[in-house]
Amino acid sequence: MSAYADRLEALAGAAADRCTGCGKCFEVCPTAHEVGLDVGTARIRVAELSALTRGGEAAGPLRTWLDACDGSARCSAACPEGINVRQWISIAKLKATRAARAAEENAAAAADRFRRMAQSVRLLASMQLPSETLQRILVPAEKRKADVLFYTGCNVLRTPHIVLNVMDILDALELDFDVVGGTSHCCGVYQFLEADLPTYERIGHRTFQRFGQSGAARVLTWCPTCTKNFGELEKDVEPPAFDLGHVSEFLAINLDALKARFGADQPRRRVVIHEHLGIGATLESIRKLLSAVPNLELLELPQDSGFSYACGGQAAKFKDREAAIHRALAEGAMAAGADTIVTMYHSCHRALAGAEAIYALKVANFTDVIAEALGRGGHPDYYRLYKQGGAMDEAVAAARRFLQSNGVEVDEASVQSLTAEIFAETGLAGSPDAFRDAFAALARES
Ligand code: SF4
Ligand code: SF4
Repeated sequence: MSAYADRLEALAGAAADRCTGCGKCFEVCPTAHEVGLDVGTARIRVAELSALTRGGEAAGPLRTWLDACDGSARCSAACPEGINVRQWISIAKLKATRAARAAEENAAAAADRFRRMAQSVRLLASMQLPSETLQRILVPAEKRKADVLFYTGCNVLRTPHIVLNVMDILDALELDFDVVGGTSHCCGVYQFLEADLPTYERIGHRTFQRFGQSGAARVLTWCPTCTKNFGELEKDVEPPAFDLGHVSEFLAINLDALKARFGADQPRRRVVIHEHLGIGATLESIRKLLSAVPNLELLELPQDSGFSYACGGQAAKFKDREAAIHRALAEGAMAAGADTIVTMYHSCHRALAGAEAIYALKVANFTDVIAEALGRGGHPDYYRLYKQGGAMDEAVAAARRFLQSNGVEVDEASVQSLTAEIFAETGLAGSPDAFRDAFAALARES
């Protein structure tokens, strides 16, 4: 085992040593309930988790629990001993998968997931961003000189207007920052989930080390998965020399400076946040930020915010539950008299971006609202146009321009697979026909 693997084992071992076996973590686990595990067996499941950590095996209901986990962190919030149970479960799941499957199969599964993600991110980013912006993001982290790194991760580049918004907001704060991300700086989520630890160390672990090599004092994360993984699988394993935290928390700390720059003449809005718990203080931070925007009324809507830390990702295995959450949110927002749903993260934004095709609601990311309040932002959200399934002329014209500037061509097969991927995600959307037909026509031009 590598030194890194030993450190993970030590973290799990420390959790098992502190655990009293009360079972509260299992009792509150939403996905254990979702797959039908019996709440009355909580103490047995936790005893099995401790046994696995100390060299036992994961079989039967324990394996079902581990596989069902979507990272919600309700277990950690419920633990009276303050154990990071989500972290413990992640390490236990890695161990169980390594024991159950050959290393080559783990590597092949991880490589396949990474390759599919990278192709899609590259194409969508090249359709929506000019070359100079993409190149700026892709410069290796260790070559950066700024005090603050804004780390995008990979997947937000499917909805790059969010990245541009954050850059606008940090610019408004007159911050010395660099933006870094893309698949060459992946957090290694697929490798960790598929238990391909050697490749994880060369990708996610390495990305984290590269932040340190840049000499930055602070790394602002965007992606909730990167935030969770770097916090629990890197920072807790070996504390870095830099501060690490989600950009929304940093903005909330700097709220007074932002408020002083907000324009007073903001549009009147009645807003519902599509909420997720589980990633630090992101929800409270976004609430604070939105509450400070002039003319914005924040409506409270009871919602299933604890089921997953974000839409998609590990929660995507519960499609019906996610679909019910999205429908209930939109209908609850309408009933409450809201005119806007505000998303916290990019995967949620993708899931809800098409809601305007079905409901009399606008969908915006919180960064859209904050950047606009600062007199900036206004970057076109082409992904929302894709998902709405209406007129595609503006999105196609932009893609034609950006693809050329990035030296990337689309073919009809890529358009078919992109259409399938975009419209297979849980969430609310119009018809896929407009996107597929318009972009297939663009592919035939090349
Ligand atoms: S992180 Fe969430 S889904 Fe995973 S075990 Fe804990 S409560 Fe259950
Ligand atoms: S809630 Fe905490 S102490 Fe109780 S069984 Fe779970 S991990 Fe152990």
